[in-house]
Amino acid sequence: MKIGVPAEVDGLESRVAATPETVKKFIALGAEVSVQSGAGLASRIPDAEYAAAGATIAADAAEAVRDADVVLKVRRPQAEELPAYRKGALVVATMDPYGHEDAVAAIAGAGVTAIAMEFMPRITRAQVMDVLSSQANLAGYQAVIDAAAEYDRALPMMMTAAGTVPAARVFVMGAGVAGLQAIATARRLGAVVTATDVRPAAKEQVESLGAKFVAVEDDEFKQAETAAGYAKPMSAEYQAKQAALVAEHIKKQDIVITTALIPGRAAPRLVSAAMVASMKPGSVLIDLAVERGGNVEGAKPGEVTVVDGKKIVGHLNVAGRIAATASQLYAKNLYAFVETLIDKASKTVAVNWDDELVKATVLTRDGAVVHPAFKPKEA
Ligand code: NAD
Repeated sequence: MKIGVPAEVDGLESRVAATPETVKKFIALGAEVSVQSGAGLASRIPDAEYAAAGATIAADAAEAVRDADVVLKVRRPQAEELPAYRKGALVVATMDPYGHEDAVAAIAGAGVTAIAMEFMPRITRAQVMDVLSSQANLAGYQAVIDAAAEYDRALPMMMTAAGTVPAARVFVMGAGVAGLQAIATARRLGAVVTATDVRPAAKEQVESLGAKFVAVEDDEFKQAETAAGYAKPMSAEYQAKQAALVAEHIKKQDIVITTALIPGRAAPRLVSAAMVASMKPGSVLIDLAVERGGNVEGAKPGEVTVVDGKKIVGHLNVAGRIAATASQLYAKNLYAFVETLIDKASKTVAVNWDDELVKATVLTRDGAVVHPAFKPKEA
């Protein structure tokens, strides 16, 4: 049983899908692991550490994945990577299939079995495999670090002989995994933190972190959570009421961090250009939803835009900005899942296609797109 770990081909990707810790664990299960030379460098893992863990260092990607039963990746394989994969190989990655149906079809055409880790059900058994949570948590932390770096003032209140510095006011919009970590991080840095969400369950979580909850709490708000725990799209009427409340609140904020997402849809627009204009010069807005269309009007993917002295930050791959930690957790998520696909006695890959975790995550198999959300509709 061979596990291949190629370097990521996307220049923006600094994470790696295996660490020396997970390599050791795979070897203990009877696997042979091949890591492409340099694959861990952007996550501060030199080849020597993989080699010390027992991996073979491959000169290039083709050598790393040659005859591999399992290929571990951060991002969906690109067309140019596919020819090197063995037919029937399991490729485990974040596949990002929405809007990339052609790329998914190409993966199916290459005859590999693609596992989309982001479709892992959010059930207790799979918590350790939840890449969305492990990476969103770090993105929420990093958003505050980025905001602090862009904000030319201190975050905590300081009473010094030279005068008193007021605490920064931080407003977090969207209190899911990323937002709650942003609240906790901003609080640790001494900011005065408020937060909003459309899910009523978020209120208690926000308050338990010592932040104030700001939202229109009408009847629609009380029903705004799906059975799966996600937000529903809100009515135009609710959005208008909430926008009026946010408009008043945001004027007094120094830092705004937005994280609001609705599964399978464009991110809701929560901060208008007029709201940005109402803020003080020197204020900072960090839009973690920029890759899904953005919560903040004027946020540009991959750019820091300055509008009348206010900075709108649209960094991409924010978890990748804290790559060493992000890789450590991502690799552990992958190990926890792949371990369930290995038969310990025969030391071979033996997938139970009826397992609910496998069913939820398999995107392509035997030359076809098989995931219910993506497979071609029958005529
Ligand atoms: P997400 O990334 O889909 O969205 C981020 C946040 O944006 C959510 O809290 C959402 O309610 C909020 N949002 C959406 N529209 C909004 C709007 N118009 N205004 C303000 N906020 C808005 O969410 P997530 O971080 O993936 O978490 C979603 C849910 O899943 C939460 O209930 C979370 O606790 C739950 N969860 C469960 C598990 C588990 O059980 N294993 C793991 C992780 C998350």
